[in-house]
Amino acid sequence: MATKRDSIVGCSSIKMSRRTFSKLTAIGTAAALGGIRLSKYDHTIDKLIEQASATASSGVNHIKTVCSHCALGCGLLGKVENGVLTGIEPWEDHPINAGSLCSKGAAIREIVNSETRLKYPMKKSGGKWHRISWEEALDEIAAKMKDIKATDGPDSIFYMGSAKMTNEECYLFRKFAAFNGTNNVDHQARICHSTTVAGMANTWSFGAMTNSWNDMRHSKLIFFCGENAAESHPVAMQHILEAKARGAKFIVADPRFTKSAALADQYVRFRPGTDIPFIWGICNEIVKNNWHDTDFIEKRTYGFDQWWDVVKDYTPEVVEDITWVKADTIRKLAYEWAHTSPACICWAMGATQHTVGTNNIRSFACLELLTGNVGKSGGGCNAFRGHDNVQGATDMCVLSHWLPSYYGLTEGSWKHWVGVWNKHAPITYDDMKDRFAEHNGKSLMHVKGLTVSRWYEGVLDSSVAQPNPVKMVFVWGHSLNSITEMKQMKEAMEKVDLIVGIDPHATIASSLADRPDGIIVLPASTVFEKDGSVTNSARQVQWRNALVEPLYESRSDYWIMKELATRLGFGGHFTYNSPEDVLKEINLGANVIMMRESPDRIKRQQEHSSDFSIEDCQAKTGPCKGEYWGLPWPCWNNEHPGTPILYRNDIPIAEGGSEFRTRFRGKDSTAGNPVSDDGISMLGAGYAHPEGYDEMNADGTPGSGWKYETDADFSGLIAENRCPSGAGRARFRAWNLPDPIPVHREPIETPRPDLIAKYPTYDDVDDHYRVKCLYKTIQDERKNLVDRYPIILSSGRQVEHMGGGAETRSCKYLVELQPENYVEINPELASEIGARHWDYVWVETLRGRIKVRAYVTERVNRETAFVPYHWAGWMEGKSYEDRYPSGTAEIALGDSVNIICVDGYDRTTNMQETKACLCKIYKV
Ligand code: SF4
Repeated sequence: MATKRDSIVGCSSIKMSRRTFSKLTAIGTAAALGGIRLSKYDHTIDKLIEQASATASSGVNHIKTVCSHCALGCGLLGKVENGVLTGIEPWEDHPINAGSLCSKGAAIREIVNSETRLKYPMKKSGGKWHRISWEEALDEIAAKMKDIKATDGPDSIFYMGSAKMTNEECYLFRKFAAFNGTNNVDHQARICHSTTVAGMANTWSFGAMTNSWNDMRHSKLIFFCGENAAESHPVAMQHILEAKARGAKFIVADPRFTKSAALADQYVRFRPGTDIPFIWGICNEIVKNNWHDTDFIEKRTYGFDQWWDVVKDYTPEVVEDITWVKADTIRKLAYEWAHTSPACICWAMGATQHTVGTNNIRSFACLELLTGNVGKSGGGCNAFRGHDNVQGATDMCVLSHWLPSYYGLTEGSWKHWVGVWNKHAPITYDDMKDRFAEHNGKSLMHVKGLTVSRWYEGVLDSSVAQPNPVKMVFVWGHSLNSITEMKQMKEAMEKVDLIVGIDPHATIASSLADRPDGIIVLPASTVFEKDGSVTNSARQVQWRNALVEPLYESRSDYWIMKELATRLGFGGHFTYNSPEDVLKEINLGANVIMMRESPDRIKRQQEHSSDFSIEDCQAKTGPCKGEYWGLPWPCWNNEHPGTPILYRNDIPIAEGGSEFRTRFRGKDSTAGNPVSDDGISMLGAGYAHPEGYDEMNADGTPGSGWKYETDADFSGLIAENRCPSGAGRARFRAWNLPDPIPVHREPIETPRPDLIAKYPTYDDVDDHYRVKCLYKTIQDERKNLVDRYPIILSSGRQVEHMGGGAETRSCKYLVELQPENYVEINPELASEIGARHWDYVWVETLRGRIKVRAYVTERVNRETAFVPYHWAGWMEGKSYEDRYPSGTAEIALGDSVNIICVDGYDRTTNMQETKACLCKIYKV
């Protein structure tokens, strides 16, 4: 008898009709469905089956794939009947989720088959939307790009990319911007975890989660600070609750009593924007009691004494005054941290989205160094990232300050990648350089570009540090409502010559700007309509199989890029036979990460998922025996199992051991002798090499060749138990950052004006990613704002929605669970303003006001309010539904909290502040 397992297909045996990469957008299905017009609320599945393309393969398949709604990377089986996605079923032996899915994962069928998807290219002209062909759309877009490049220069086009693309598409998107001659390219990571990357990378070399979801099963202390996994990463809770069942203590520190806090052993409420003094208070008490790990600090870290000079002032009493946390609670937390090991700290955007976001993350990393918890199972820093492939998109560097795999914008980095690209089609470094403009006598090839968080300033700010302002913007898989200062963004969108929105949904790229023309929207296929690799937050690379052919006239992001590249004269650089071929090119050049996660290896793992243990994600038997799931980077050669725990140097490199990179080099460093800016050796104790060693060339000589040699063979180094990136020291003191040691700085809009003098924000910056950024000026101007706006406003997630919400607010089941946006307010405040539960209220800040329901709850205290950020489609209480192309508005619309969030940005990465500004709330 056939079992369900018999019908499950992985990547090497998919029975559905396979495509070549360049034909990903076959339109057989679309042609057959073209006449369908269903009501928004209709159940479409039966009709889709009925009218499925005759060319679709027959029968029922269960196809292994990866969820698209958070960076956990849960596996699932797509049930496909006659080419139509008819159900989602559990992939029971997937090592991360073991078959579990949250409400969003379970809703993928509806999300793919959504009737509100954008079905064909549309253009707005004369105040109306018109259907146009792909040829017309692409020709017009390419012609406009050529015009703008010729008249204003290549930097007058901004390329907003997406973590919803596969690794291969992200890599090509960064390459696409390069071939268009600009670094004005960025994506969601800028506004969700850029401060995580900067904070961790500047402490100990890599900017990613050090351990994994599964590894938390081995923790004895799990400490959340600005993370609410029960809503944002629900299936991760199964590992946390397992650890708790085994005796771990689970503590949640958050300004709001979250659903995660409800499951914790202890909840600690602290004031938004005071993470650093809160953590420093714990550290202060640990050091004063000599509870810190002196051996670890001595052998593997740098700058402890200078760090203590700062942290010694953050006594529990000082911290109590700043944070709302009692001094006694701080002392007890310090005791827990010092006497419970292994201990991990976890966070998400609650910690990252601040003017001091990078410093927040640095403080978490220092706590782990202080207690010697990093580099061990159950310990580490676990950043819970957002989009399914935001780690991969970050690794591929859809970012304005890096080239793929974290290579900078230096001549050496460009030469490295041009060398890789030249293997695919001829291109020289000089050819590439000629594509870029100059500004103030310097090639913009080497200058950081604009960011997603403030791209609109590149339109509005006439002093933008490039030849001309931005005239055209690609909104390519990005939800604009996740960006703050939405009114300025709206103004910018009304000023540019052309907006190009590319997404499975029309999104507010189509509706936000008040203009009669100059908008083209293109239907991208969903992530379940294309093959490719994705990297979850734990650095695990998985192969996502397409479930169905692209619906309607949608096309893959790759196809759209290739068509534009062809029209712009460099199509040869974007013509590949398959996503596998693109991944092989990535493997060739991305030495810092993604070196040996080849398509063959990650597909083989998918076939043999039942061989991997849920305890440590290692294959215990079968052809992958010894490998870790997803070959978490770094993965040094074809035999390497991946590195599941970063910086663990009690096991050989060949078995997944790891070292702190010798990445930080003061100016007096020489090859083999890296020193800090104050002349201290940066070599730290390594596995089998207690004296440490510098980074190396593949032949073992000191040098940074390991980064630049393509297809390098590191087998000799691995056999000697040497990490090609060296064995160095992690930094308590990061001399290159604005705050080498984090200090408390009051939020720009603070309820404690009395603390500003002692803990001021930063000085203003004239050129922060090409635009001016105000700190001190606006903090001083708003010093007494609390008198008029007495409530601290924060934002965050709902379990039913994702990101900007275009997909999930188009799903009737998820909308039924969360139909409207709201503000959580305390009963005391509700009573004061005369609002009852679910009344409409206005939440107003200096930026404007939003109309939302009052959610009366003690989750927040009297001083704080909370609004979910997934909402869009209204502007200050006015619906914009009639501005979308007909039938494409999401089922549920609402005001976005980012209309009113503060205009503050992280001093290092330009991450926007969304967790601490001042508002007032009153009844509508
Ligand atoms: S949204 Fe996240 S937790 Fe939920 S099923 Fe998808 S990957 Fe898993």
